[in-house]
Amino acid sequence: MEARAPRGRHSHVGGALVSDALVDRFGRVHRDLRISLTDRCSLRCTYCMPADGVPWLASSTLLSTDELVRLARVAVGLGVTEVRLTGGEPLLRPDVVEVVAALAALRTPTGDPVDLSLTTNALRLPALAAPLRDAGLARVNVSLDTLRRTRFVELTRRDRLADTLAGIEAARVVGFSPIKLNALIMRGVNDDEIVELVDFAVERGLEMRFIEHMPLDGGHTWRREEMVTAEEILTALRARFPLEELGRDGSAPASLWRIAGTAATVGVIASVTGAFCDRCDRVRLTADGQFRNCLFAHDESDLRTLVRGGADDARLAAAMVACVARKRVGHGIDSPSFVQPLRPMSAIGG
Ligand code: SAM
Ligand code: SF4
Repeated sequence: MEARAPRGRHSHVGGALVSDALVDRFGRVHRDLRISLTDRCSLRCTYCMPADGVPWLASSTLLSTDELVRLARVAVGLGVTEVRLTGGEPLLRPDVVEVVAALAALRTPTGDPVDLSLTTNALRLPALAAPLRDAGLARVNVSLDTLRRTRFVELTRRDRLADTLAGIEAARVVGFSPIKLNALIMRGVNDDEIVELVDFAVERGLEMRFIEHMPLDGGHTWRREEMVTAEEILTALRARFPLEELGRDGSAPASLWRIAGTAATVGVIASVTGAFCDRCDRVRLTADGQFRNCLFAHDESDLRTLVRGGADDARLAAAMVACVARKRVGHGIDSPSFVQPLRPMSAIGG
């Protein structure tokens, strides 16, 4: 991808004229904001966190609801149309329903609500699915790496499979749509469950998506040669299902496949072997108020200090625009000079 002069300040999305101030040197316009609500988690997935967790962010540094919603509003004014809440485990944040209600009330410059969604381990969905839907949440993604209890315990270091399954059921009952299930496939751990996971999803009208393991774990245990690739996942899927390629949906990271003769789709996210950086439209806000232009970025824009120092919206917007302008062409995992960012996935927001 070649660097070029930033494009104009507006473009058309779904027929409407919107701001595209968050544009980088490569012409990528950023419309998708991932907000981490907390870095804490109720599980300890081996690919994400060490058994003892990671050093947690100091509570004094965590954004208040008002601070977080204000930063989201500024980003929406700059062309963001999609907001996804994540973590850590976002449902551990005590005021998550209030946060959702406030974000659901935001309007883009064209007067539309933002497309609001959440990624969760589902443990608290039995209690929260209905209040979250009533507050304006439209969609959820649930992480589900195994359907076997003993394996779930080994993988997450917690005996909570029944709660995750109950959370998925609660999400269905209240009518979130679509509900996507995300599985991270690891060699010798759950690579024999690919077909079972698809069957589980299809029987319930859910979309199964498989994700390649990325070098973002708090324990720095990732090894390229141990990673199960998207191609291996597709080989396992093709052995059982006739697949029709649907391609990619815009900037969405998953390549989609339809199980022939059915309405069911399966997604494969080749974050490492088939990087989609050239279409990336994501920016991130961490729970402690750092704005990031990439999961793998080494630098962050400290919006918390700006907010707490009395910066006006124009100053916050300028910091976001400048951060996006610094975005690198790609994550560079394949480069010999690749260095994993200091912040683990759980503290960035996956
Ligand atoms: N706790 C919530 C959950 O698990 O859905 C939200 C946060 S979690 C960090 C978001 C997603 O990131 C999950 O689907 C998880 O599987 C994925 N993830 C975590 N560590 C990862 C890694 N090293 N590589 C790829 N995906 C990862
Ligand atoms: Fe928690 Fe999600 Fe990380 Fe698992 S992947 S430890 S559920 S943040």
